[in-house]
Amino acid sequence: MKVVLKNLTKKFPDRNKKNSYVTAVNDFNFEIPDGKLVALLGPSGCGKSTALNLICGLEKPTAGQIFFDDTDVTSLPPERRGVGMVFQNYALYPHLSVRQNIIFPLENLKGENKLTKDQMNEKAVEVAKLVQIDGLMERRPGELSGGQQQRVAIARALVKTPGILLLDEPLSNLDARLRIQTREEIRRIQKETGITAIFVTHDQEEAMSISDLIIVMETGVIQQIGKPQDVYDDPCNLFVAKFLGTPPVNLFSGRIKNKTLFIGEDPVISTDCEDTDDITVGIRPEGFIPDNNGGLKCRLDNIEVMGRDTSMVSTHPAAISNPIRSIIAADTKYDRKSSEVAFSVKPSKLFLFDKDGSRINRDFIP
Ligand code: ATP
Repeated sequence: MKVVLKNLTKKFPDRNKKNSYVTAVNDFNFEIPDGKLVALLGPSGCGKSTALNLICGLEKPTAGQIFFDDTDVTSLPPERRGVGMVFQNYALYPHLSVRQNIIFPLENLKGENKLTKDQMNEKAVEVAKLVQIDGLMERRPGELSGGQQQRVAIARALVKTPGILLLDEPLSNLDARLRIQTREEIRRIQKETGITAIFVTHDQEEAMSISDLIIVMETGVIQQIGKPQDVYDDPCNLFVAKFLGTPPVNLFSGRIKNKTLFIGEDPVISTDCEDTDDITVGIRPEGFIPDNNGGLKCRLDNIEVMGRDTSMVSTHPAAISNPIRSIIAADTKYDRKSSEVAFSVKPSKLFLFDKDGSRINRDFIP
């Protein structure tokens, strides 16, 4: 099922200021194609949960419309929208077994949708198999691990065969190893069922690893929508560049003079841009190449070898936040004993931003 948002806005009264509002979701316009997994990604308070609650019907919009395929669902209550919800805290009934928890949403079906006990049981076993908890049907939630409880919650969300699956920070309560395992599980289940899924997270790595599309948000405003790799490779502004990537993008103060980009006093690369002062230069960690003829001269503080890659930790007077972290291939040759390192820079890993943080489009000549 396709999801379309048109001019969707949600304002909440601001408790601290009379007659003032917090705009949690500001004029959202986008389309989520059928069968895709999309991440709503942004820092705490940017409006992710509000956007999800508007889509499932738990919140009413201040303005705008929501369509599922061609049906306007804006004024439908949640139970008539055909969505399954999974929350961070699982929200399972502690006194019911896994089987009873999964069956619960089926018990109130009425009229021609009403199911017999056997039919309900059959459906519960079917989704339990899909999320691989069919061996745990008689246990109570308290007798399960966090990862297993989240699988029960996903099974319960899927048992009514919803058209859309909405997941609000579903991995937050799991430890690091289980987070990775469970996010891969969510991706597998989403692909196997072909369901359209919207996944809320503040964790860029999580969003990048399993989504078809990411929607990056800040203070209720969509910053960029695209395939994870495209957004990483081509961020539209400084906020997006900083938000995606571990280690994060390295930032420097720079200027352009006579078709050359300078970082501090160092000429780094030729460019087609006009002379400009006061720009921010972003270089991804994998964009640095140790090169004795390179223009960017840094003080080398430390080298961390991490299996496949080597991380060089260095400083530069024009860096906005030191240290600079550059990731280089483990077989790269460099002088380990030197206290300095010179880098040339990969043009595709270099971004320029103006004073307001907007991207300056440019061509670099390596
Ligand atoms: P988190 O990751 O911390 O859950 P979020 O990105 O999901 O954050 P929301 O919970 O959607 O953000 O909140 C967006 C903004 O709307 C915040 O400034 C929040 O304080 C405000 N807000 C959310 N719900 C209400 C409410 N019921 N009344 C007033 N303000 C609200």
